[in-house]
Amino acid sequence: MSKSSRNWLKEHHSDIFVQKSKKEGWRSRAVYKLMEIQEKDRIIKPNMKIVELGAAPGGWTQYLSSIIGDKGKIIALDLLPMDALAGVDFIQGDFTELEVLETLLNHLNNQMADLLLSDMAPNMSGIKSADNAKSIYLCELVLDLAKRCLKKDGDLLVKIFNGIGFDDFYKNLKGEFAKVLVRKPQASRARSQETYLLARGFLGNRDFLL
Ligand code: SAM
Repeated sequence: MSKSSRNWLKEHHSDIFVQKSKKEGWRSRAVYKLMEIQEKDRIIKPNMKIVELGAAPGGWTQYLSSIIGDKGKIIALDLLPMDALAGVDFIQGDFTELEVLETLLNHLNNQMADLLLSDMAPNMSGIKSADNAKSIYLCELVLDLAKRCLKKDGDLLVKIFNGIGFDDFYKNLKGEFAKVLVRKPQASRARSQETYLLARGFLGNRDFLL
């Protein structure tokens, strides 16, 4: 194991959010990011139909399930496998592949989602400009999916890396939603470039590419 991996593991195990998530039975520390956003912005409501991208290992999915209840629905997707959760349709695949996108749309069965979430993070190369470009590419694809599957007035929460391309993507979102908020939850590591954009009130432009 490399020195940087050892340091990461050391930091991870001593992280208060990691310890808290283990104690409270959540699958990941990431859940506290969504909880903080929910406490502030109230984006998740009972009975919602939700599409969740980058769901594994499933901390957000567990939390979403606990709020939407039996009449809600979650379609969750990830490159990696994820342990099953009641009431969740899980698709394993790469969101950037057309075939996987089609599978996701089939699961929606021509119904629109109330909320689209993406916690996807590209594999990091350590080269900032390349990592930013990968993050923006994922964000653009997520916005394209929003135009296909989000109800008018629906909300989108998307993880993005702060850097080149951020301002342009932020402007794109502003053109499609009533308002766009920037969120950096406490559980998001301070040194990480990761930020969340919360776009509220989809205006209904269905002009998608894919
Ligand atoms: N929100 C999750 C939770 O609460 O457990 C944690 C998500 S983790 C930070 C990011 C996830 O994005 C990883 O599991 C990764 O496999 C997934 N991911 C990255 N690129 C992807 C892609 N192109 N298609 C599908 N999933 C992707």
